[in-house]
Amino acid sequence: MSNHDRPATVFLEKEQGFILPTKEYSIPDIDISLQPIRSFKDLFRLKALTRKIRSPIVKNIFSARVINMRSIESLKNARRSLEDVYYRDYETNIIHIDDLHSINVDLSYEIRELKKDTYYLEHGEDYFIDYISKLYNKFDQHVMKGLGFLDNLHFNCFITDRDGTTNNYCGHYRSSIQPVYNAVFLSRFASLCTEHPIFITSAPLKNFGIIDVSVNPDNVFIYAGSKGREFLDLDLREHRSFIDPLKQERLEELTLRVSELEKKPELEKFFYVGSGLQLKFGQLTIARQDVTNSIPEEESVALLSNVTSIVHELDPDGTVFRILDTGKDIEIILTVDGENGTKDFDKGDGLKFIDSRVNLHLEKGPHLVCGDTESDIPMLEAVLEYTDDVYAIFVTRDVALAKKVASLCSNTLIVPSPDILLTILGIAALTTKRKKGSKAPGIFL
Ligand SMILES: [Mg+2]
Repeated sequence: MSNHDRPATVFLEKEQGFILPTKEYSIPDIDISLQPIRSFKDLFRLKALTRKIRSPIVKNIFSARVINMRSIESLKNARRSLEDVYYRDYETNIIHIDDLHSINVDLSYEIRELKKDTYYLEHGEDYFIDYISKLYNKFDQHVMKGLGFLDNLHFNCFITDRDGTTNNYCGHYRSSIQPVYNAVFLSRFASLCTEHPIFITSAPLKNFGIIDVSVNPDNVFIYAGSKGREFLDLDLREHRSFIDPLKQERLEELTLRVSELEKKPELEKFFYVGSGLQLKFGQLTIARQDVTNSIPEEESVALLSNVTSIVHELDPDGTVFRILDTGKDIEIILTVDGENGTKDFDKGDGLKFIDSRVNLHLEKGPHLVCGDTESDIPMLEAVLEYTDDVYAIFVTRDVALAKKVASLCSNTLIVPSPDILLTILGIAALTTKRKKGSKAPGIFL
């Protein structure tokens, strides 16, 4: 059999044939074979399968159902398949885009998070916390300080970013599936300690967006994508903010032009690394670098200048688009009307849009806002317009950013990693004093 005919990595899903109406709890019995991952398609397919396993596992945990050992075995096989490509060819770590092109990949996020998940499921939460505490300096001090900071409070809004804040950064957005332990800690806190838990991410909402990488149980979080321009409420209704049809037309033109860059052999890799190409509501994002800097700087700069010149061609007077270059991603955002002319749409605008559709009672604190970058600051500022009763936790090692957050919000806590934030929230939910009339302890959802 030639390379061309070789089937992609084989995954087998067995039918379990339930007769009880409990299908949504059933964890697919997927045998993930140990064949190596040869392409991004293989990688993303494998990671999508781990979501199909992880999601019902979380649902079972929240419904006080015990999960079977075979599902843990499936997650282990997924990890072994990734290790197979990652470690066997350690010096190259090559994944093929097609027969002619290949790039280096960093699968450490995928492998590490799968390892943590199986540890969590096999050993339980106490040993798990002990395990992750060894991965970080001063873990215990940070967690104890965080618990004191939250002070058994019950929050009205819990507004949080995802990537870099509650989720460790991953080299490829499509494979950044939320781990089981992450969903258990977050959903437990959201459902027991908050009234309105909301994710606001700059990634799209769907196709391929935050709802495709999350495994929290349904009806716990409001998911907002494209910085809040589109969101899914707790009744799973979708909301989209207004966009000027003329601007929308220009965005579609831009999408077409940027998509064509994939045909240039020297540029196609940008469609696979990091965020890849993301078509958002009112925004287009294309990666020019990933978290491990696997793209040579001059190639990354070449993409930036290609994209910038397309934008200038389509919008010579600069009224329709704003270009935001994060160094990793080039974000091209449609402008909105602000106080002093046009401005780019930020997460604060997104939060206000969500509030206009589902009343969040923003005037009623306390609120908790979590983020990890400059682009999360507008959601903190927006909340502070309504009340001073606001708490902020930022996940950062950037001293300037930490200072900026603290100068805006007197109740600020800085932590160095998403896992520490998750542990603080997960434990806070176990020790919180329950409000009268709130959900029964034990079974949450
Ligand atoms: Mg972030």
